[in-house]
Amino acid sequence: MKSLFIRTLVIAAAFGLAEAGAQTRDQIEEHLAAAKAAAGFDFTGTLARVCIAPQTAPGRDVAPGPAPARETWYTDPAQVFDNLYFVGTKYHSSSALRSSEGIILIDTLFDYASEEAIVGGLKKLGLDPASVKYVIVSHAHRDHDGGAKLMQDRFGSRIVFGEGDWQMIERSVNQYPYGKPKRDIVGTDGQKITVGDASVTIVPTPGHTPGTLSMLFQVRDRGRPLTVAYSGGTAFNFVNDVPHFDTYIASQRKIAAAAAAANASILMSNHSEFDNAVTKIKLMAARKAGEVHPFDLGAEAVARYFKVTDECAQAARLRLLQKS
Ligand SMILES: [Zn+2]
Repeated sequence: MKSLFIRTLVIAAAFGLAEAGAQTRDQIEEHLAAAKAAAGFDFTGTLARVCIAPQTAPGRDVAPGPAPARETWYTDPAQVFDNLYFVGTKYHSSSALRSSEGIILIDTLFDYASEEAIVGGLKKLGLDPASVKYVIVSHAHRDHDGGAKLMQDRFGSRIVFGEGDWQMIERSVNQYPYGKPKRDIVGTDGQKITVGDASVTIVPTPGHTPGTLSMLFQVRDRGRPLTVAYSGGTAFNFVNDVPHFDTYIASQRKIAAAAAAANASILMSNHSEFDNAVTKIKLMAARKAGEVHPFDLGAEAVARYFKVTDECAQAARLRLLQKS
């Protein structure tokens, strides 16, 4: 009698587990479907990276390999808005926000690209690299922080990272064979980095790295002010456990809310893969008078972008729970 009772319990528990497993699978599917719907045709690159083939671990602290051939990364610099210039590569963005009294530079590419793309690019556009007062680096991965030391050493630009990412730089043994940027400004929540009539508001979004900084700032399109939400970190190449995903998800909701409150209609990122910057810059050449700017997707689209990263992270988080 007793053994039958226990057997019944065991069977009931097994059914319960199977049912919970099926429920989790359904939930994962729901998050993936929601992400797909949110991505639409605007954010397929982001969807592919974080939902379809997400990375699952951080990179190791190893020395950079040899620089790739120039033709694999070089693209011409361009003026994107009245006061915003693209000095990035085919894959990574570096953006110069010009003001009456100097430039705020956002992100600095791989070190091998920073000299030609940023210093050379600014000059090609008629801007003076020595007028870069601040460099805000969204996070301390080498595809974005490679030119920070150059800007600090050569032009005396003030450098801004999140605290967690200054610590990453300081801890790294191998990743900065040409030297590290020296600790300077720590970007904090709501902080404004201002030069003349240009200002960038920092919105820390930890997750991609501990100190990832997202941003809000205003640009002008033929005189019309528009607000940009700049997403500082996207992929899941961090320690993949539930607490890290909880942090990441909270950050996506935080920047989504900040973007909505500021009525941001433009989504920019540090990878063209996520915001199609290089393609949009090409499209600008075909823009007719009265046509909307290719970067100006509208506040609804900006909200959908952060829905993609949120839903994909929820799916990844549930997959972890399913495994454990
Ligand atoms: Zn990164």
